[in-house]
Order: sequence, then structure tokens, then C-alpha cells
Amino acid sequence: MARSMGAPAGRLNRRLPGLGEGFRKTCLRLGAVSEVAAAGVIGTGTHNTGISHGILPTQVVALMLLTASGEIRECSESVNTEIFQAARLHLGCLGVVLSLTFQCVPEFYLLETSFPSTLQEVLDNLDSHLRRSEYFRFLWFPHSENVSVIYQDHTNKPPSSSASWLWDYAVGYYLLEFLLWLSTFLPSLVRWVNRCFFWLLFSGQGETVDLSYKVFSYECRFRQHVQDWAIPIEKTKEALLELKAVLEKNPKVVAHYPVEVRFARGDDIWLSPCFQRDSCYVNIIMYRPYGKDVPRLDYWLAYESIMKKAGGRPHWAKAHTCTRKDFEQMYPGFQKFCAIREALDPTGMFLNAYLEKVFY
Ligand SMILES: Cc1cc2nc3c(=O)[nH]c(=O)nc-3n(C[C@H](O)[C@H](O)[C@H](O)COP(=O)(O)OP(=O)(O)OC[C@H]3O[C@@H](n4cnc5c(N)ncnc54)[C@H](O)[C@@H]3O)c2cc1C
Repeated sequence: MARSMGAPAGRLNRRLPGLGEGFRKTCLRLGAVSEVAAAGVIGTGTHNTGISHGILPTQVVALMLLTASGEIRECSESVNTEIFQAARLHLGCLGVVLSLTFQCVPEFYLLETSFPSTLQEVLDNLDSHLRRSEYFRFLWFPHSENVSVIYQDHTNKPPSSSASWLWDYAVGYYLLEFLLWLSTFLPSLVRWVNRCFFWLLFSGQGETVDLSYKVFSYECRFRQHVQDWAIPIEKTKEALLELKAVLEKNPKVVAHYPVEVRFARGDDIWLSPCFQRDSCYVNIIMYRPYGKDVPRLDYWLAYESIMKKAGGRPHWAKAHTCTRKDFEQMYPGFQKFCAIREALDPTGMFLNAYLEKVFY
């Protein structure tokens, strides 16, 4: 186990092996970004991928909360259990998280293999992909059938990387950002940009071995608008094919690459998008250049309506248009969370404009 006092989550991972014999060879599983705070990532329900693994808050076994009244509450599965149940995914509205204790696993190496495929193949053989790799995810390049499948699995192989110079020196990404910027003037370019980058960076086989937390984390190279809803896993195929059909029917609606598809095990955390069901996260993006608004409303609304129809729940840290009425329907434990919040913070000291939309 590892206790964090507000440390950036990535730094915590780097420090874990040096924390003494009890912590040697330990590792925290993170999402795509590590320069975030431990209390921040659990507060919004950060997730990575792997159908046998829950979202990051499921790794929390205890925490200390400073409430609005100035009291410090220790919570765990055996102490203040109701507060613990709420505070593992706290939205920043229950108090100040002073410390967190994570259940860690022994340090391990991951082998990442990537290879090209098609959306139809991946969706037809989803169960088999999920069985074949512990941390399976895939990237779909909208306006095409192209998919990059990424497997990550435990290995005893020595560290290595087959990344190309285009990837190593980020040259591909500078070029991509330039082309995406150009496409903000000529939206019809987007389908060709998506295809071009699939062939340039993702059409070959790749293999990388490194410490797990280094392989799990990757850089988002350009600024972007993001939506990321979790839908019941059995709806994956239907929802993605519908999204593809919408884009085909409406050539004026453009979608930047990638659509990132990840998986997480169901859990028992009241405000977790994976509450009581194994889930598929469908993450869509639009490039967000400085000082320029890229139209995305049609894509955003079409995606949201497909996710809602599939019984989805939005990621708490990403864009959505939901309000309290939606959350009451999505989350069976929503009222219980509200009761805990009102008891811990009766005057709304920890509320802000976003949270008012969620709770009022
Ligand atoms: C480049 C990038 C990549 C990302 N990739 C992923 C991904 O792969 N998977 C995924 O699920 N998400 C991803 N996200 C979303 C990200 O995980 C969340 O935005 C996360 O909350 C960021 O952590 P933070 O420390 O910046 O949180 P903040 O935004 O600072 O905080 C999040 C919430 O926690 C509250 N909070 C923070 N500290 C405390 C504290 N000590 N006590 C009480 N409340 C507190 C804040 O008030 C806020 O409500 C990504 C975000 C970025 C920018």
C-alpha cells in the first residue's frame, strides 16, 4: 500500500520503489496522464483500460478528509464506511482530501504491442481481444475503417522500443498539428488527415517494453476538447457502429482522430461511471488550437445522444451537458451521495458553478 499526501500521481509512482523494503517493487496503475494530483485523479474517476481492472478510485483503501466544519475524518471500508463510499470519487465537494492510501501491486514490466486492424474486425471479435490482452484498448480513426489495436501485458522481456524516429522526436505530431490547423479552414481535409496519420504512425506493428507506469502514461501532444462516456460493455458494438453511420450520413460533421476505446471493470462506488457494470469508455476529441474555435457542436450532440441511448454515463472531468435530473437517473446511489455531501458541507463551502449544475 502507498499513502499520498497530495503528491502528483506520476511522482508517487516514481518514488514508490525507493520508499523502503515494504514499498519496494510497487506500482500504481494510472491513466494516460501522470502530471496530476492523487486526490484530483480519484476525485473525477480517472480510468485506464483493462476489463479485469477498476477505475483508479477502486485502488483507494483509506483516506483522510478535512470537512467544512474543520473536523478530520478517517475513512475506510471499516471506519466511516458511508463517507468512504462517497469520497473515493468525491468531485471535490466533500472536503479537502488530506491523505490517501492506495492498494498497489508489485512493480512489473509491460510489453506493449500494437497492430493495425479494422473497426468491424475489432467489434466482431471484442471478447477475444479482451481475453487476449490484460490491458486492451483500441484507437479508431473516424471517417475510415482504420483501427490501431494496442495490447499491454506483463512480460519478463528486457526494456526495448520499436518506436519510429517520427514518433521518438514527435515530428509526426508537429506535422499532424499543422495539418489539423490547416483543416480548421478546410474541414474536408480532416478525413485525409486521419487516414494520413494512420498510415504514417499506426499502420505497422510496434513493440515496446518498459516499467508499467511508463507504458501506461503517454502524452496528449496537442490541446483538445474531449468527451468520454462509459457505456455498458455489451453496447460497445452497437454504439460505435451508430457513431460511424452518423459520420457517414453527414459529411459536414467532422471528427478528429482518434476515438479511443477503453474498458473497465464494474465497481461499487456511488458516482463511478462503472457503477455495477463492466464498461466501455468511448473517448472522442477535437483539436483545440489557441485562439480559434473549431466547430464541434454537431459531432458532440450526435455522440452524446448515442451514448445516452446506450445507457452511458459521462466522465466527470470531461465535457457533457448533463444536469442533476440526468444524474439521478444514471446513478442509483446519487441521492445517497447528495445526503452525505449535504451533511458534510451544509453551507456549500466546496461548491462551484460546475457542481451547482450537478446538484441543483
Ligand atoms: C492531458 C490529459 C490526459 C488525460 N487522460 C486521462 C485518462 O487517460 N483517463 C482519464 O480517466 N482521465 C484523463 N484525464 C482527465 C484527468 O484524469 C482528470 O482531469 C483529473 O481530475 C486531473 O487531475 P488533477 O490533479 O489535475 O485534478 P484537478 O482538476 O485539480 O481536480 C479534480 C477535482 O478534484 C478536486 N481536488 C483536487 N485535489 C483535492 C483535494 N486535495 N481535496 C479535495 N478535492 C480535491 C478538485 O477540486 C476537482 O474537483 C486527462 C486529462 C488531461 C489534461
